[in-house]
Amino acid sequence: MKVAVVGTGYVGLVSGTCFAETGNTVICVDNNPQKVESLKKGKMTIYEPGLDVLFDRNTKEGRLTFTTSLEEGIKDAEVIFLALPTPPGEDGSADLKYILGVADDLGKTMKKYAVIVDKSTVPVGTSEKVRAAIAANATVEFDVVSNPEFLREGVAVDDFMKPDRVVVGTESERAQEIMKRLYAPLVRQGNPVIFMDERSAEMTKYAANSFLAMKITFMNEIANLCERAGADVDNVRKGIGTDSRIGKRFLFPGIGYGGSCFPKDVQALGKTAAEYNYDFKILKSVMKVNDKQKTKMMPLVKDYFDGELKGKTIAIWGLAFKPHTDDIREAPALYNIKSLRRAGAKVVVFDPEAMDNIKKEIGRKVKYAKSMYEAIEGADALMIMTEWPEFRSPDFEKIGAALKNKVIFDGRNLYDLSNMENKGFTYYSIGRKVVN
Ligand code: NAD
Repeated sequence: MKVAVVGTGYVGLVSGTCFAETGNTVICVDNNPQKVESLKKGKMTIYEPGLDVLFDRNTKEGRLTFTTSLEEGIKDAEVIFLALPTPPGEDGSADLKYILGVADDLGKTMKKYAVIVDKSTVPVGTSEKVRAAIAANATVEFDVVSNPEFLREGVAVDDFMKPDRVVVGTESERAQEIMKRLYAPLVRQGNPVIFMDERSAEMTKYAANSFLAMKITFMNEIANLCERAGADVDNVRKGIGTDSRIGKRFLFPGIGYGGSCFPKDVQALGKTAAEYNYDFKILKSVMKVNDKQKTKMMPLVKDYFDGELKGKTIAIWGLAFKPHTDDIREAPALYNIKSLRRAGAKVVVFDPEAMDNIKKEIGRKVKYAKSMYEAIEGADALMIMTEWPEFRSPDFEKIGAALKNKVIFDGRNLYDLSNMENKGFTYYSIGRKVVN
């Protein structure tokens, strides 16, 4: 099939590449000329494990191309995906200016029937707005479909190629047939393509993300309570995770969720609730607790240094909001870097993939280390913000020798308490006893 993807970020590039991998001819459109230039030269613009191999193969075979021109991109397309940003607007609701702007342009440019598929995360009722924006200028027939994306950064290729399910919101039979054909190679194992009305599809995405954010937040609260009550959250996690009604995933406590999706989607669902005069109490608590959780390590660091961080150097391992991505949007590390600097500390950072992005975001305000061990050389303490695999089994002797004080503030519970005790570290983690 001929597919256009408008917006070539995390979702757009992964979707476009994976649809090309299943034999479709895909043109990705982006209005950022540097991005398109780089992609045309064969240089990927995001870090996503496994994507490079598919990207190389499909660009070389001519099934995956890039352009800044919407007109050129959609000319022959039977399906046009919108993978555009939906950032929070000033009031926290999803800002639809990118989606509606492109919809307006599509109405003016489309020369033949196409299915316009909204892959961005958008509030209930957006499909109707997109349809109206296109219809204002369109001279051809078209369908608008809601097809929310559930991929996770870090495992996006796998998620896209083998989705648990595909949700498609449309009541048009013609559009349903086209979507079925497009997704058939990805659901060969029998995973369902679930058809529903547009509004339910739009709501499904927010319900999924808010539920997961709630699950993490619930575990963070259990962890906080464990600290007070002398229980170990790791044991509690195993104890409940083995219950099939609860499940093992999304039960790891930490210093709060971040990323480009959970914070904004929870907030946007809250706005939708307010719009419909519904007091969504759990959602409000999730946001409040998560904001507080991000601040959890700072008082511990301050106390350790008797309230004075001036002149201290704190090393941070991990900047991305989670491992296997270079995405730092709403990452807890950003909050902690700011707080440390505000308190007068110097900060040295290391992340395996997110260094370029953090440089763009905060420039020279911190020192950038070339390796995890360079970051801790002569530092007063180590903080861990992202659970990258290479941080899991480090050389503790090297860490002990490099740090001025053998102290680790671990926001991701990477290490075994008895191991830390045996090695003589002072060790703070989440929902477990302090080792000192
Ligand atoms: P992104 O910011 O990485 O990518 C968006 C791209 O759109 C950018 O490359 C930008 O240059 C481009 N763009 C903006 N305006 C444009 C225009 N007028 N014409 C062409 N291109 C334009 O965003 P993302 O992370 O890919 O997210 C896109 C949507 O998918 C959001 O609604 C997000 O909530 C949703 N989503 C994201 C993820 C994720 O893990 N990142 C997962 C599921 C859903």
